[in-house]
Amino acid sequence: MRHVVEQLAASRIREVANEGLGRADVLKFWFGESDEVTPGFIRDAAIASLQAGETFYAHNLGLQELREAIAAYTENLHRGRGTAHWIGRLAVTSGGVNGLMLAAQTLVEAGDEVVVVTPAWPNLVAQSLIMGARVTSVPLRVQTEGARAGAWVLDLDALLAAITPATRMLVVNAPNNPTGWTLSAAEQRSILEHCRRTGTWILADEVYERLYFADDTPNGAAPSFLDVADPDDRVIVAHSFSKSFLMTGWRLGWLVLPPALTDAVGKLIEYNTSCAPVFVQRAATVALQRGNEVTPALVEHLRHCRDTLVPLLRALPGVTLAEPLGGMYAFFRIEGQDDCLAVAKRLVREAGLGLAPGSAFSPEAAGWLRWCFASRDTSRLVQGVERLERWLQAHQQGT
Ligand code: PMP
Repeated sequence: MRHVVEQLAASRIREVANEGLGRADVLKFWFGESDEVTPGFIRDAAIASLQAGETFYAHNLGLQELREAIAAYTENLHRGRGTAHWIGRLAVTSGGVNGLMLAAQTLVEAGDEVVVVTPAWPNLVAQSLIMGARVTSVPLRVQTEGARAGAWVLDLDALLAAITPATRMLVVNAPNNPTGWTLSAAEQRSILEHCRRTGTWILADEVYERLYFADDTPNGAAPSFLDVADPDDRVIVAHSFSKSFLMTGWRLGWLVLPPALTDAVGKLIEYNTSCAPVFVQRAATVALQRGNEVTPALVEHLRHCRDTLVPLLRALPGVTLAEPLGGMYAFFRIEGQDDCLAVAKRLVREAGLGLAPGSAFSPEAAGWLRWCFASRDTSRLVQGVERLERWLQAHQQGT
């Protein structure tokens, strides 16, 4: 076995989830997905495709109809270059995670230096490690004062200082899992200009682009590198159907690439998965075409979930938490509860509450807990906070 594979960390979120195996009474907020089933009309499109006998291989880069639908969707959100412009820059991938891995396979040589902004979804670090890169992390900092105390914020100067001509790739995920941090367009411009000077690739994970609550952009979506970059910039943007269309289990995403890279990524897709399943692509095409029936209501519901959970958590003694600006996670710490992995396991066993430990996302996030608030029934969130409160009370009394 390759050394890096042997060294890959097992998922700490799984480690906590294993504590609750076989327990139906645990309220589970540990994984990054909504508990809402994919809308019926999307499922129907997959069924119709299978009934029509679409059981064969397809184009490496994805069905033409799907790429056209993604192009129209992208055109609608970003920069008005025309639908035709986007089609030559798209690769349909087997989930966002596969798209990110393909980007790493395309760009990263063994021994290259990769910079990752952390806390981050662990896969973003692991993928470059698998390619044999040396990964350096640039941690967000926790704001300690003011109305947004507990928010994780970017030290732009520290990030730019960490990116040198030796840096092959910067990996940045905003809106961020787990912190809810988002990048401003001005920060994206500074990062892009700096990376143009150093010759560094930017791999922008924008899978939470639509799950944005700040109301300060014309399209309602989070600021995107696609809005500031030119087509030939060294920028790859990763997207997914998982979050905005409630399709986590379908395993479908896409990359937006500089045109010169598209065919190379197509070759790599051949050797990884060959293509995404056709019936899944048919479902995704319909999801995009009728996206207005899904995403806006989902975002409003998530806003409601956030606005239900965050004040309740903040009212608990010792809890530090800033309202997340994007994504679907509340990321918080509890004073005196610093061993978050142990706390998360105890919460499962003793309180029936399933959260993810911050240490899964970076060493700086040790002591923090992530709560995925994408819950169809918001009373589950209220119940979860009650369980946490009772556990804290019992714990503080030493019982
Ligand atoms: N990026 C981030 C930051 C994520 O949190 C996730 C899913 N948890 C993904 C990418 C990948 O999502 P998927 O593979 O389901 O498309």
